[in-house]
Amino acid sequence: MNIEQLYSIYRLHPSVQTDTRQLRPGDIFFALRGPNFNGNQYAAAALEAGASFAVVDDPAFHTQPEKMMLVEDALAALQDLARHHRRQFNIPFIAITGTNGKTTTKEMLRAALGAAFRTYATEGNLNNHIGVPLTILRIPLDAEMAVIEMGANHRHEIAGYCTVALPTHGLITNIGKAHLEGFGSEEGVRLAKGELYDYLRENGGTVFVCKDYDYLVEMSKGIGTVITYGHEPADYAGAPFPGTALLELEAVEAGHVRTHLVGAYNFPNVMAAIAAGLHFKVPADKLRAALEAYVPSNNRSQVMRKGTNTFVMDAYNANPSSMKAAVENFATLDAKQKVLLLGAMKEMGPDSEKEHQALADLLQLHHWKAVVLVGKEFSKTQHPYISFETADEAKEWLAQQRYEDTHFLVKGSRSVGMEKVVN
Ligand code: ATP
Ligand code: MG
Repeated sequence: MNIEQLYSIYRLHPSVQTDTRQLRPGDIFFALRGPNFNGNQYAAAALEAGASFAVVDDPAFHTQPEKMMLVEDALAALQDLARHHRRQFNIPFIAITGTNGKTTTKEMLRAALGAAFRTYATEGNLNNHIGVPLTILRIPLDAEMAVIEMGANHRHEIAGYCTVALPTHGLITNIGKAHLEGFGSEEGVRLAKGELYDYLRENGGTVFVCKDYDYLVEMSKGIGTVITYGHEPADYAGAPFPGTALLELEAVEAGHVRTHLVGAYNFPNVMAAIAAGLHFKVPADKLRAALEAYVPSNNRSQVMRKGTNTFVMDAYNANPSSMKAAVENFATLDAKQKVLLLGAMKEMGPDSEKEHQALADLLQLHHWKAVVLVGKEFSKTQHPYISFETADEAKEWLAQQRYEDTHFLVKGSRSVGMEKVVN
């Protein structure tokens, strides 16, 4: 494939799509293959629907040579094109990975840096092998900062994304238990996320490291520039105020910040943005205003009020470390009575039974008005709580209760659909 040729087409039509259902006229269509589909089959339809061009990797579907390019591997072509576009920029490219809080941290960085720079950040959760190149290809040429979220559930994924995004700066939010099916163990998670540090170590990059996590400090050794944040002592230090439903913190330079985020576990996520903002010389008052203005979406740590009840909605995802953080934080909240509506944690592999039991044991350390556990993953768990197989059954149960002045924590893996219980 001739990347220059493909890039000149992209410069004329700087918008790329891999899904015909989301295609807009003028988009360049890349025919990718998935486990259940072959994008080549949609290439002709994409052109008919207004695509400016189609990149295919199956000669049988290379039917309109004047509007199609035949390549070895359309995914590799997409990644090559993204890397080529990336090379047009001489600006900070900040890559974010980690087990929990990537999107939240990315949005906080978008807000913080956006207060002073034209900042492009990953839209939504577009953080995989397709999302990372698509994100890069959406960065406008006049951008001054790029923030790229990178997700992974296997080794070598992050290393691969780095060869496309060529980050100059990096941030690992934390390392915990998630996607253990793909990683094998927590050590596997560490090696996988550590690929971002490895890349920056080898390429003279800069990392923002949360000093509250010894393992991150240890892993970041040998990297050219390490900027730390978290509790004192750190380059950018701060402390959260205990007991508030929405996180408030006091940070050196940034001052008193009142966020719209639920949970003390968001403290490092906000501190990361303060560190990045101050490092790049965003004025402190603008930085604080931007962080305070950010309101999360997608059931990521939202607070909803219905009558006298308060719902802490965290039904976007769950794994043992984020569950523990959310439950322990909820336990410290000032509230008259508390009810937990918790869904199962998916993708736990052989540890699933053990982890669900550990959660049930953790719950028993605190006093709750009621606890409802949802999902068949809890069926072998020993616990004294109400449990249901589906969120719909839990919803019916809740509809029959008459709670007043109650705080609810709603959390679970996305596929359990815990938000349904409340909606
Ligand atoms: P995904 O892997 O789905 O992209 P993510 O890493 O982008 O997830 P977010 O979407 O920011 O993470 O947050 C998802 C959930 O993770 C939050 O609702 C919260 O429960 C939990 N979480 C966020 N930050 C932290 C943290 N610092 N420590 C522990 N749990 C966290
Ligand atoms: Mg995310």
